[in-house]
This record gives sequence, C-alpha cells and structure tokens, in this order.
Amino acid sequence: MKILICDQLNEKVLDELKTLGECFDISLSDNKDDEINENIVDSEIVVIRSGTVLNREILELAKNIKIIARCGVGVDNIDLEFAKTKKIAVTNAPSANIISVVELTSSLILNAARKIPQADLSLKNGKWERASFMGIELFGKQLGIVGFGKAGKLLAERMMSFGMEIVFYDPYIKDWDGPEQSTDLDTLLSTSDVISVHVIKTDETKNLLSKDKLDLMKNGSIIVNTSRGGVLDEDYLMELLSSEHIYGAGLDVYENEPPPNTEQFRNLNITSTPHIGASTKEAQLKAGLDTVENIKKILSGDYSVTL
Ligand code: NAD
Repeated sequence: MKILICDQLNEKVLDELKTLGECFDISLSDNKDDEINENIVDSEIVVIRSGTVLNREILELAKNIKIIARCGVGVDNIDLEFAKTKKIAVTNAPSANIISVVELTSSLILNAARKIPQADLSLKNGKWERASFMGIELFGKQLGIVGFGKAGKLLAERMMSFGMEIVFYDPYIKDWDGPEQSTDLDTLLSTSDVISVHVIKTDETKNLLSKDKLDLMKNGSIIVNTSRGGVLDEDYLMELLSSEHIYGAGLDVYENEPPPNTEQFRNLNITSTPHIGASTKEAQLKAGLDTVENIKKILSGDYSVTL
C-alpha cells in the first residue's frame, strides 16, 4: 500500500505509518506541488496537515486513493464534496491540538494587553522605554468568545483564572448552564474588552466579523483570532488598530497564508504568528498517533472516524 506523506510528521508517527505500508515522504521537498501531482496518482492513503491543499484538480489525478488523513482538525484544505463523490474516506484528528491552540491564544491575549513583543524588541534594541509600555489588566474584564466549541470552552476555563467574566456567542449551543453567559454576536462585540474567535470555517462563518461587525467593538478592546483566516476582515482590523479605535490584536491565521504586506503589522499593537497554534511537540505527536489509529480503523472497516 502506498502512503503519501505531504507534510512533516513526528518520527514516531512515521514509524507507525511504515507498519501499514510503503511511505513516500515529500514533506521536505523543494518541489512539493509537482511531487504531490506525480505521487498522488497511485497512492492509496494521503496524509496531510494544514500545509497541503487537496482540491478537485489534484484529487482528479488520484486513481487509487482510499483515505485522506488530516493530521489535525481543519479540513477546509480538502474538497470534501469531491472526495465524497470519489468515495474517499476523509478522517481528521479533531481534539489532538486543542490545548496547544488555546495556550497560544492565551499568550496572544496577554501579549496584546501588555505589548510584550514590542517591549522585548525595544529592550533588545538597547532602549529603556518604560513609559511607552503602559498596558491593561485582564482582571475583571469581559472576554467574549465567538464559537464556543472545544477551543472556546478551554479558553474560558483558563481565562476565568485571570478573573475575567466570560460571555460567548454560538448559535448551535442551546440551554447552556455553565458560568459563562450566552449572548448574541452584536452584544458580545459591543460589550467585550477582549474578543477571541474560535469558529470553524464554513460558508456561514466566512467574513463573520465583517467591517460592520468589527465597527461594533468597544474603544480600547482587543481581538484575537487563532481559528481560521477569512472569518474576520483583516484589512479593516488594521485600520481599527491604526486609528487606535481598538487597543490590540493577535493573529495566528490569515485569509491568505502567508499573508501579503506583513510590514503593515510593524507599527501596530499586533502579535502575529505564522499559523503555529498546533505547533507543539505534544500536539503533533498526539495528532499523528490519532491519525494512525483512524487509518487503522478505516482499513479494518470501521468508518466511524470519517467525516
Ligand atoms: P469546534 O468544532 O469544537 O468548535 C467550533 C464552534 O464554532 C462550535 O461550537 C460551533 O457550534 C461554532 N460555530 C459554528 N458556526 C458558528 C457561527 N456561525 N457563529 C458562532 N459559532 C459558530 O472546533 P474547535 O476544535 O474548537 O476549533 C476551533 C477553530 O480552531 C477551528 O476553526 C479550527 O480549525 C481552529 N484551529 C486552529 C489551529 C491553529 O493552528 N491556529 C489549531 C487547531 C484548531
């Protein structure tokens, strides 16, 4: 069985995959696009992370493909509809990296509140500009979570320990009886001091935080997005930061990755990371091992782990 590995995996995970078939690891190839096109033709299993796009054009080349295994959660880089028509089983590892993404989210919130990256850079440039780095406290402030799934709930638990009041907007959660308050999106945006976005990317959440919605944000607030690019209007966010209508931002995900014009981030209170939410040793190992288990289940006829 030919297993095509398009993105980098943990060594232990590779060893496990080698017990299932012959592995072709093109993750470090300089010519990845060509290698995918060439190798997908006779591969039976294709393993990807977020760095590979399996669109219709590429999947049309695949003659033997049975399983697409996404080592991580988001599957917006796979043409699911077309995969279905080709009877390809698609599986992902939805909970493996969630702690890591929530820990990154917490740090982006703290970075924005205390301008830590700017203060660090200033000191490293030999300056001692204490007056420039007046921050804001999180204690007693309201955190608004947009999308209250696995990541949203874990973030709430963590930020409550900072003494934050938590509200959330999630139209798919009914009758919530936890300490967090459910609210509508406009109220969340106009009353929260910190907003964190944790929706999955769907047609409905695309540009969910449009210009009009971002305009509702409180003066001096902070917004962080570690979910998926394209759910908020990034260009308008830059305008709100430039005009200092909002205080700070943190982005790990972008509409286009890598994002163009990153120089515009330089003079703003924004901490920008290159989609590293899931990039911890622990998350990669867990996602990889979950992926191997899913592949084994599908090969044994158990399709409960497919999407
Ligand atoms: P999840 O499916 O557990 O939660 C998503 C929540 O969004 C659900 O509760 C759902 O009801 C809600 N939702 C759906 N449509 C909505 C809408 N229109 N308005 C408000 N809420 C809506 O997902 P999760 O595991 O918590 O992951 C959240 C996001 O984080 C995903 O987009 C995922 O791709 C992303 N993620 C990013 C990284 C990274 O590296 N930055 C890593 C892991 C996950």
